[in-house]
Amino acid sequence: MAYDIYGDRLRRGYCEVHPDVAEEYPCSVCQGAQPDLIGLDDYEDMIRAHEEDMLNEYENERLLAEAENGRNMRDAND
Ligand SMILES: [Zn+2]
Repeated sequence: MAYDIYGDRLRRGYCEVHPDVAEEYPCSVCQGAQPDLIGLDDYEDMIRAHEEDMLNEYENERLLAEAENGRNMRDAND
């Protein structure tokens, strides 16, 4: 007799990670829900970190553009 990951008896043909899904492991939920495997909090942290990277990149580009504009302004005043 097989057991699912929660220690309950596994019904034949059901996913051991998703015992309510009548598909053998890896079921379509397993394959379609990869973020669940690392935990939703980790996934949200990943998203947040990614957004911070994007913001930092955006900020850097904005500062570069401002520096460029500042140079152009000085050139125009000379
Ligand atoms: Zn599954």
